[in-house]
Amino acid sequence: MAQELISKRIAIVGAGPAGCACALFLQKSGVNNIAIFESKDFLKTLLPTGGGRCNLAFAEFDFKELAKNYPRGEKFLYSVFSRFGVKETLDFFDSIGVKTYTQPNGRIFPVSNSSKDVRQKFLKTLKCELVKEKVLKIEKLDSGYKIETEKSKYFFDVVVISIGGHGGLDLVKNLGINTIDQTQSLSALKTSKDFSILSGVSLKNVSFKIGKEIITDDLLFTHKGISGPLIYKISSIFARKTMPYNICLSFVEDFDFQNHLDKNSKKNIKNLLGEFIPKSLAEFLLNDLEVDETALCHQINGKMRDLIYKNLVSYEIEIVGKIPDSEVVISGGVDLKEINPKTMECKKLPQLYFCGEILDIDGFCGGFNLQNCWSTAFVSADAIANL
Ligand SMILES: Cc1cc2nc3c(=O)[nH]c(=O)nc-3n(C[C@H](O)[C@H](O)[C@H](O)COP(=O)(O)OP(=O)(O)OC[C@H]3O[C@@H](n4cnc5c(N)ncnc54)[C@H](O)[C@@H]3O)c2cc1C
Repeated sequence: MAQELISKRIAIVGAGPAGCACALFLQKSGVNNIAIFESKDFLKTLLPTGGGRCNLAFAEFDFKELAKNYPRGEKFLYSVFSRFGVKETLDFFDSIGVKTYTQPNGRIFPVSNSSKDVRQKFLKTLKCELVKEKVLKIEKLDSGYKIETEKSKYFFDVVVISIGGHGGLDLVKNLGINTIDQTQSLSALKTSKDFSILSGVSLKNVSFKIGKEIITDDLLFTHKGISGPLIYKISSIFARKTMPYNICLSFVEDFDFQNHLDKNSKKNIKNLLGEFIPKSLAEFLLNDLEVDETALCHQINGKMRDLIYKNLVSYEIEIVGKIPDSEVVISGGVDLKEINPKTMECKKLPQLYFCGEILDIDGFCGGFNLQNCWSTAFVSADAIANL
């Protein structure tokens, strides 16, 4: 029980959202013998989240529905979210003085709209020892763990690793734990076709079909390729796909194009397409197909009609690379097969726990990646408090 653990020393390696939340949950359970190691500034990685506003969760209160937003980790997260989901997250933030609100699109932010404010509330509440040292090695001993930093060596009974997705995997690999290669998720995508002339043009409700599912969201053309919420989702789903690969986008839903051509026979084709998509994109597509943009609709023959229609409802784009954009999340990390989802403990190394982005879990934009931190931090802290 928590009482017996008072004599145990607990190290948390990495003071990002996951590590700091784990420390706070332990503290709330009455466990105080905690040291957090951080090589940079404590909870600094929270500052840029949500463009400085900290999109800390998403208003999906059904744990299975919530887990669907994680291309890696969905099934693993069932038990984690069933114990600590969005409601528990909001209660937790309320308990440290962070009031929240939900945007119409479901994204949850602090009322202060300030990740700086959330960070301050966290750090004000944290009472544990903060050690500003980079951890170089973690070693399993007969009893407990040895932690080596640039400055010293330390001994702990329990270790939580929460170094995020950008801290490398050496610490974990040295412990003999299997890892999945890391790669970027949630990025803009570089295309083989040059869309720079359309840079800045955005489209609402573009659809992308994957299996039986259709994802619809907004798209933005950039000087190097394509970006926007739809593209972040696609980049996340295909985070591990070998480049180049092709995607097929629907700028408009299926419709009777011939009927529109007939009804607008004296209109020019560019203006007709401009009723469905931005005129600049209409011009781009027509030029690409070598169709005269001033041609009148009645001059569009069957072959041209079919080509234009295909480009509207099923436009193929070759993806050749990733472009780090706003929110960069890492896919890969600790292989989930190594971890017990009921405790976040490593199956082969007792009293070694993991939480946050170091795990092979990553979600879409919208608060899902921070939710992974809060929930896995809670489950690990709860298991440690009940050792
Ligand atoms: C620009 C940006 C915006 C984002 N916005 C959002 C958002 O609005 N909503 C959302 O849900 N997600 C967002 N994310 C993702 C989210 O920030 C991360 O998923 C989250 O920070 C991961 O938390 P973590 O604690 O697991 O790891 P991290 O935040 O990476 O923290 C790990 C900590 O460990 C430290 N560390 C690493 N190695 C060592 C070592 N060897 N010794 C000591 N310390 C070490 C690091 O310095 C770091 O402080 C955003 C990401 C970015 C980059």
